[in-house]
Amino acid sequence: MKRRLERQDGPQTTAKPRKNGVVCNEPPCANDYVSLELYSSHVSQFHDNVCCACGKNFVYQRILDLHLEECHDPFRDSDSQLKCWHAKCRDQFPTHALRIEHLQRTHHYPSSYDFDIIYKGYVTT
Ligand SMILES: [Zn+2]
Ligand SMILES: [Zn+2]
Ligand SMILES: [Zn+2]
Repeated sequence: MKRRLERQDGPQTTAKPRKNGVVCNEPPCANDYVSLELYSSHVSQFHDNVCCACGKNFVYQRILDLHLEECHDPFRDSDSQLKCWHAKCRDQFPTHALRIEHLQRTHHYPSSYDFDIIYKGYVTT
C-alpha cells in the first residue's frame, strides 16, 4: 500500500491568529489575547485615543482633548481654568482637586475612580 503525502491546498491558512481572537501588540498591550467580539471595544478602550505627544492612552476622546490642552499646550497659562470632563457641562475649576469634587458630586463618579487618568493615561493592570 502506497502512502501518499499530499499537500493540503485547502482554504485554511496556517498564519491565522488564535482561534476567534487576536494577539494585540499595540502599546500598552504586550501579546495580550483579545477575542474577536471584544476586539473593537478593546481598540477603542486602549488604542483609539492615544496622545501623539506622550503615547499615553486616554480611553475617551474628551479626556484626550483635555489632556492635550492641560499637559501639552505650550501657550496655556498656568492659571487657566480646568474644564469639566463632560463636554456638555460648562463648569470650570481652578484646581484638579476641585474638579474631582465636582465630578463626584455632580456626575456621581465613584471615589475609587482614578482621576489622575487625565495626566497619567489609562494604565492597564
Ligand atoms: Zn491592545
Ligand atoms: Zn500626552
Ligand atoms: Zn461637570
